[in-house]
Amino acid sequence: MTLNDAKFSVVWFKRDLRIADHEPLAKAVKLGLPILPLYVVEPDYWKLPDVSQRHWHFIHDSLCELNNELIKKNAPLCVYTGDIINLFENIRSRFGSFYLFSHQETGNNWTYQRDRMVLSWCKEQRIVWDESQSNGVARRLINRDTWSDLRNSVMRKPVILAPSTLTSLKDINLGAIPSKDCSMFGNNLIGNVQTGGRAQGLKTLQSFLDERGQRYMLTLSKPGISARNCSRLSAHIAYGTLSIREIEQATHRRIKELSFAGDENSQYFVRNLSAFLSRLAWRCHFVQKLEQQPCIEYQCMHPAFEGMRENDFNDIYFEAWKKGRTGYPLVDACMRSLHQNGWITFRMRAMLVSFASYHLWLDWRKTAPFMAGLFTDYEPGIHYSQFQMQSGVTGINAVRMYNPIKQSVDQDPEGIFIKRYVPELKNVSQTWIHEPWRNLTLAKDYPLPIVDHAVAIKHARSQINLCWKSQGFKEESSIVLEKLASRKRKSRVSRSNTEKKASHKQLELKF
Ligand SMILES: Cc1cc2nc3c(=O)[nH]c(=O)nc-3n(C[C@H](O)[C@H](O)[C@H](O)COP(=O)(O)OP(=O)(O)OC[C@H]3O[C@@H](n4cnc5c(N)ncnc54)[C@H](O)[C@@H]3O)c2cc1C
Repeated sequence: MTLNDAKFSVVWFKRDLRIADHEPLAKAVKLGLPILPLYVVEPDYWKLPDVSQRHWHFIHDSLCELNNELIKKNAPLCVYTGDIINLFENIRSRFGSFYLFSHQETGNNWTYQRDRMVLSWCKEQRIVWDESQSNGVARRLINRDTWSDLRNSVMRKPVILAPSTLTSLKDINLGAIPSKDCSMFGNNLIGNVQTGGRAQGLKTLQSFLDERGQRYMLTLSKPGISARNCSRLSAHIAYGTLSIREIEQATHRRIKELSFAGDENSQYFVRNLSAFLSRLAWRCHFVQKLEQQPCIEYQCMHPAFEGMRENDFNDIYFEAWKKGRTGYPLVDACMRSLHQNGWITFRMRAMLVSFASYHLWLDWRKTAPFMAGLFTDYEPGIHYSQFQMQSGVTGINAVRMYNPIKQSVDQDPEGIFIKRYVPELKNVSQTWIHEPWRNLTLAKDYPLPIVDHAVAIKHARSQINLCWKSQGFKEESSIVLEKLASRKRKSRVSRSNTEKKASHKQLELKF
């Protein structure tokens, strides 16, 4: 197709629910044709095990606000429910050929396959699909060594302003935004969901930069206070109500301001914001892994771990873990809090997965979709990479098995968080709160530990060690490193035998 054939532009909103810093929209405006802003609710997507009504609630808030913003620009959002190829066929036969703009999406396997179908349909119909890079993640990256520079150059580019006005395609009505409680999205929503929408995202960013981020690092791992002191921007980033570039640039401005102040508190705040900036970069790094290797959603990064857990799957353990009834107070409190709030801090996510994967020996491929549904901020790129890391199946990361009793003592010493979410333990004193089974008279309604910590860890360690010692393990690890590791890590790990020994030692120490 040549540009002359296109009668209008379709801007397909996906995980980018904003109009500021939105390159596809800006490109469509520049092209000068009438614009159809589009969001598609795809019923087959909403049947997948890793999506939930909780995600829809956040998206719903964000779509309503996006629509209001677009109405102000004279081009209301068109929301269609159904198959996207049918929709495109329909639009093309009614209104003629169009130019398609969107961001590149690094989603789950379903969205990856859907995008491949859209691409071949576009090719058949000679429709141009212009996909803009999303949040520093590069498509068809040839050299991983240059990725970090590429990402940083994207982050430094000026934020794109929202268009002042749009010319819309007239007389098109595709349907309305489905209701929040429509049965298509399931009814597995329990508790509170973070409010979506850009206004809330900007407010959250502002309060983090103004004040909440001051003690970010100190409280990052605490299951209670972290809910306030972490940025809480993850769901906004996952659904794109804010771009990472906007967040990074706002953070740099704040760091500059604090640096001018020069006092001790400001310097401390700067260090916390710098740690936050590193995490934003990690985010892109993790999503980049899935972009390069979509199969990490369902295949262990290192093949030696295939078959290690699958046949031992214990449904009773899985149910107990899902319900927060394992008999380990902090594990159960974290899981129940996740059911209620849809968010928990990084260390507690890691501990929950470590417990499922090592103590209960559950295959990560069954635990990961369940948890994805619980996280409002579900982001496949981070999620599956982290699940693999916390389950010890990457072959390139030190194996870390969290001790749930030690975590409990360290992160919730007085048991305040535990008592909030595990009411059966509300009268248990600080002496017993981390190991209530040691005094059986205290918590009658609370289960005994589902497995013995020491026994379970010993079993997990021996199984993991077997894989690490298998033939060809190191050679495969080098391949994984080359494909997926961050370059800093690669240079560390590939250094020498001493380094390899050290990483095995780490394996011993962290159990
Ligand atoms: C098993 C497991 C699964 C996870 N699944 C998800 C997921 O589906 N979606 C998701 O956004 N995060 C996920 N994380 C990473 C992390 O726990 C969350 O990003 C973080 O807790 C979100 O809260 P926040 O926005 O307040 O984070 P902050 O601590 O304020 O961090 C700011 C941003 O940096 C990014 N970030 C923070 N920590 C990490 C990390 N370790 N790796 C990559 N990016 C990071 C996130 O985008 C986050 O919003 C997972 C972690 C684990 C251990």
